[in-house]
Amino acid sequence: MGDLSGSVVAITGASSGIGAATAEVLAAEGASVVLGARRRDRLEELTSKLGARAAAVEMDVRNPDDSSRLMQTAIDRFGHIDTLIANAGIGAYGGIMDLSDDQLREMMDTNVAGTVWPIRAAVPHFLQAGNGDIVIVASVAGLRGAGDEAVYAATKFAQVGLAGALDRELREKGIRVSVIAPGGTATEFAMGAGRTPDMPGLADMLRPKDVASAVLAVLRQPRSIRTLVWSIRSIKEAD
Ligand code: NAD
Repeated sequence: MGDLSGSVVAITGASSGIGAATAEVLAAEGASVVLGARRRDRLEELTSKLGARAAAVEMDVRNPDDSSRLMQTAIDRFGHIDTLIANAGIGAYGGIMDLSDDQLREMMDTNVAGTVWPIRAAVPHFLQAGNGDIVIVASVAGLRGAGDEAVYAATKFAQVGLAGALDRELREKGIRVSVIAPGGTATEFAMGAGRTPDMPGLADMLRPKDVASAVLAVLRQPRSIRTLVWSIRSIKEAD
């Protein structure tokens, strides 16, 4: 098992849900964590909880310069960057004609471009070091879309396709590219856009920490082993 102590991990979408839980789990394993998201107050709350081995960067994954700033902060604060968790994402449920142009554009920009920009900011550092890890938090919707999430599924399929191609491009250069594809997870995801805090089934979903544990397990694999796509789902989730 690999040891995370001393490693530096940048996490997008770290202000809540899976990203925040991943920050906590990895920090508990001794990693330094650089937390990127838009909500400064939430980020500061989490960094003050995690202490000196955490840094916050107010950023929007739709902006390539913000991703460069995320990596630069990792290097300025901790000296290097070893891992990117491309986790930020949004979703809205509804038929193809039910969602507005703006909703669809925001989902495509955040989930697709917002995965590409952080990766492009991280890869030069990983190439220079001769190793690195990219973990993309996609979704089961990136393996098989349901009827009320066509564009969301398209963005998640895009992440899975991106990861598969990058694995072929970067593996020989020491960079592992992994996908975690969770099923329903009880977070703020899609709240007010198809989910509500009191919706039936929320209590049966995965917890953010369950997904964070999967990220940890991927990173702890010896460097001779790569994880391509790992889908995890609640035992209660139907097919
Ligand atoms: P969440 O809403 O709690 O967290 C999403 C995070 O992304 C938040 O920190 C949010 O602020 C951030 N974010 C959104 N847009 C951003 C932007 N433009 N720039 C920077 N940060 C931005 O939801 P979550 O469930 O933790 O979602 C994390 C990832 O998990 C997403 O990619 C989502 O698609 C994926 N996922 C979620 C579920 C689920 O059921 N919750 C299931 C499968 C996959």
